[in-house]
Amino acid sequence: MVSTVETPLESPAAYPYSGCTFPADERRYRKQRLAAAFRVFSKYGFDEGVAGHITARDPEQTDCFWVNPFGVDFGRIRVKDLLLVDPAGQVIEGNGQVNQAAYAIHSAVHRARPDVIAAAHSHSLYGKAFSTLGRTLDPITQDHCDFYRDHALYDGFRGVVLDREEGDRIATALGGTKAAILRNHGLLTVGQTVEEAAWWFIRMERCCHVTLLAEAAGTPITIDDEAAAQVYSQSGSNVAGWYTFQPLYQQITEAEPDLLDE
Ligand SMILES: [Zn+2]
Repeated sequence: MVSTVETPLESPAAYPYSGCTFPADERRYRKQRLAAAFRVFSKYGFDEGVAGHITARDPEQTDCFWVNPFGVDFGRIRVKDLLLVDPAGQVIEGNGQVNQAAYAIHSAVHRARPDVIAAAHSHSLYGKAFSTLGRTLDPITQDHCDFYRDHALYDGFRGVVLDREEGDRIATALGGTKAAILRNHGLLTVGQTVEEAAWWFIRMERCCHVTLLAEAAGTPITIDDEAAAQVYSQSGSNVAGWYTFQPLYQQITEAEPDLLDE
């Protein structure tokens, strides 16, 4: 008699980046990366006063997102401090207030872009300075090519973003791209993961810095279309953005393990 040993096929992970199978695990994964992203933004000095927000879509209540509580220092945020906000802007989990600008911008982006799991915005110094020029980034270094034909300009500053219409205009300007330069305001980046949105923000802020340095010194040479597209295909992808954040996550969770407190 021949016996056979059946090996059950492993069910494919429901969530490709985290490898999580269940929504509850995916929620924890996203909240851990979100808290870590705030700590990393603090290290980079992206916070200024109470401005700035990063959001992560909830894996089950997909029209709701997790966000930082208004008025809490990025450098102190823990998993347990994060708030879940519903489509009406109400906090339905967690203790604290949501910044109305965070709600207006991020709810519009999450609504317009089902592919977007996370979005990041702050008033970082060089992004804010570059935003006053009212134009997009040229591919002047290899790193700039991550945004080659994949970012937009929101050219309509109308004051603090507090209403749905203004959020919708920003989401429309963003279109299908990974980032928008909000004129006279700052940067906005998005991703299929928290890691990706956070990494593009860091990358874009530094590209703005480099552009300002280079243009202050002379006339930068622009990379040709073919080379820019080639670089973009390598380091500008969703996976590349996710992957590039991993060392930062390792670093911050080792240095500041309390960020994972639930
Ligand atoms: Zn802002």
